[in-house]
Amino acid sequence: MKTIIQRLPAQKTIALIAHDSRKASLIRWCEQHREALQQHQLIGTGTTGGMITRATGMSVNALISGPMGGDQQIGALIAEQKIHTVIFFWDPLEPMPHDPDVKALLRLAAVWNIPVACNETTADMLMASNLFNTEMDWEVPDYAAYLAARQQ
Ligand code: PGA
Repeated sequence: MKTIIQRLPAQKTIALIAHDSRKASLIRWCEQHREALQQHQLIGTGTTGGMITRATGMSVNALISGPMGGDQQIGALIAEQKIHTVIFFWDPLEPMPHDPDVKALLRLAAVWNIPVACNETTADMLMASNLFNTEMDWEVPDYAAYLAARQQ
């Protein structure tokens, strides 16, 4: 598929999400990276976002709670190219009522070539990248050409 290059700003929009059993880990991770995270726009699902703000004092735009549609909201923002990185500590040991929404979010991140960290190690490696705090080229699939080709 053809791609187009977009310029991403140094200040990115980062989505923060955690399932209940992983919320404490995400809050700890946010505290460890507070200085770097504060350079960016932070957005999160409702409960996660609120808990991070209360625990760290960082401003997080908290959407609807995940099981009530928050994961779908994050997915829609990815499709609108308004989210540039996802930190999602999901629970690998428990089924969730909103598993389809989680899968949809992760699928859209793959569709739009968005970096996703599902655990602390990956999140640490993302934060260690110098692309995190600088402008960067973002290679976005050219879905307009893809759709046009399907209509022929
Ligand atoms: P929550 O949603 O932050 O509202 O708990 C996260 C999720 O379970 O997807």
